[in-house]
Amino acid sequence: MAILELTQYPNPILLQKAKPITDIESASIQTLIDDMIETLHSLPGIGLAAPQVGQSFRLFVFNLSAQEGEITPYKGPHVVINPEILKLDGENLSDEGCLSITGFREGVKRASFASLKGFDRTGKAIELTGEGLAARLFQHEVDHLNGLLMIHRLSSLKKDVFYRWFKKRQHHA
Ligand SMILES: [Zn+2]
Repeated sequence: MAILELTQYPNPILLQKAKPITDIESASIQTLIDDMIETLHSLPGIGLAAPQVGQSFRLFVFNLSAQEGEITPYKGPHVVINPEILKLDGENLSDEGCLSITGFREGVKRASFASLKGFDRTGKAIELTGEGLAARLFQHEVDHLNGLLMIHRLSSLKKDVFYRWFKKRQHHA
């Protein structure tokens, strides 16, 4: 297993639609899954999508066990391949960050309930439902696979805040 290097905004791989995985059981995909889980556990994050480690595949891993006070059935590492959102409901505004935009946090409006279907790492069909943080995570990760980042979900006012922040950061880099 290996800890993978994270791609950072504005790397173009983060802004393109990722490819569906057709060979879930292949050694290269299984290794990628192991490495993504190890990478996630080395980071202060709860979810990681393949484009964030430079692989344009429809795959994300997540682990909600570290979240205090959240009631979640999703403890331990989970893998979701070729996810499709089935249902979104409600609305919730909460602060969000992204491992590909380190240092930036802002309030993002998301559905407060989300269900999705996909496949686990053995190729078995799975269905997941989540509220609150889990729902937010599912939407954030599926967005990654569609080339969308949290900054694209901000109000125009907050987008301006982001672009000013980013410009400033580039100056100091
Ligand atoms: Zn992210």
